Amino acid sequence: MNTFGPPKMVLARGEGLRVTDVDGNTYVDFLGGIAVNTLGHAHPALLRAVSEQLATLGHVSNFFATTPQVELAERLLALTAPGVDGRVFFANSGAEANEAALKITRRTGRTHIVAMEDAFHGRTMGSLALTSKAAYREPFEPLPGHVTWVPYGDADALAAAVDDQTAAVVIEPLQGEAGVNVASTAFLQAAREITTQHGALLWLDEIQSGMGRTGHWLASHPAGITPDLVTLAKGLAGGIPIGACIGLGRAGSLLEPGNHGTTFGGNPVASAAALAVIDTILGEGLLENATAMGERLRSGLAADDRVSEVRGSGVLVGLTLTGPGAPAAPAVVAAAQDAGWIINATGPDRIRFAPPLVVSAAEVDAFVQAWPTLLDKAVHL
Ligand SMILES: *Cc1c(COP(=O)(O)O)cnc(C)c1O
Repeated sequence: MNTFGPPKMVLARGEGLRVTDVDGNTYVDFLGGIAVNTLGHAHPALLRAVSEQLATLGHVSNFFATTPQVELAERLLALTAPGVDGRVFFANSGAEANEAALKITRRTGRTHIVAMEDAFHGRTMGSLALTSKAAYREPFEPLPGHVTWVPYGDADALAAAVDDQTAAVVIEPLQGEAGVNVASTAFLQAAREITTQHGALLWLDEIQSGMGRTGHWLASHPAGITPDLVTLAKGLAGGIPIGACIGLGRAGSLLEPGNHGTTFGGNPVASAAALAVIDTILGEGLLENATAMGERLRSGLAADDRVSEVRGSGVLVGLTLTGPGAPAAPAVVAAAQDAGWIINATGPDRIRFAPPLVVSAAEVDAFVQAWPTLLDKAVHL
């Protein structure tokens, strides 16, 4: 169905950051399947994990447990909130992880949710109900209701919106789809205090920002808070579909037998893929690499006057093109594609970069070197 508009090209193969289309043209992928290909394309560790698991046990349904699934739940709990009791529900995507979290919030006996302006939480009816963009939501109303939006990062507005009837506050620590807006640690800490005061759950949607992309396992880790719910997906299994809804403390036990389910969620192949991603991030020092390469990319991009602002953390980077003589963001994406680079526009003047965590200094430098020429060419498109 024509939900995505015409595809930009037809891709045939990939290795590392390089992808090749069906005509044999190659591109360097600075979008990584929208923050999904953590290890780049065709990483040997991911290939091995998926092949070995599929050859051993591919799928069994959730009537049964499998070793990779249990091990992944334990690893995710240890990475998310070491020493805190919790439980994990596995799904197949970000929106589904958020659906599980939304159902958990209803089990508090309350229905009111406070979400952020410019938030993106997915396209299913429940996660859509939390998404602030009216154009996404309105064609599908009525949606699950009782949602209030407050300006992202505004602790006073948040405090005013939350009361003793609030089930949860949902925040992306970095808003990816909005063009990479970063919440301050002070805002995340305030959100923790406000929700605790009112007995509401603090739910962090780390679907795009989590799993090492910011140089931390979770983008919220520098804030030093323990949330009640964390949702993960995108980069979690490096391209194999998976989502996870992590419930910490009492939030982990609000769903009871019969309350929720999934046929595929957390299947052994997807779980083995996620374990391989985690092991490779650790083994190849990819948190450190994400931090270093993100800084290198941001400072290189900011050097051009046409770039008015560069935002982000690690290898989730956004910029605004409103300096003198700046071209439109979609024209820059087109000029980049002509020159062999895949990047993404999140708005008329906003560009997003989400390269794999394995991106090298040479790849970043090559892009930074090409950047002024891409902007020149985009002006004439
Ligand atoms: C992509 C995204 C989702 C939705 O994930 P899907 O896998 O596309 O359903 C939800 N929340 C955030 C923050 C995202 O970036």
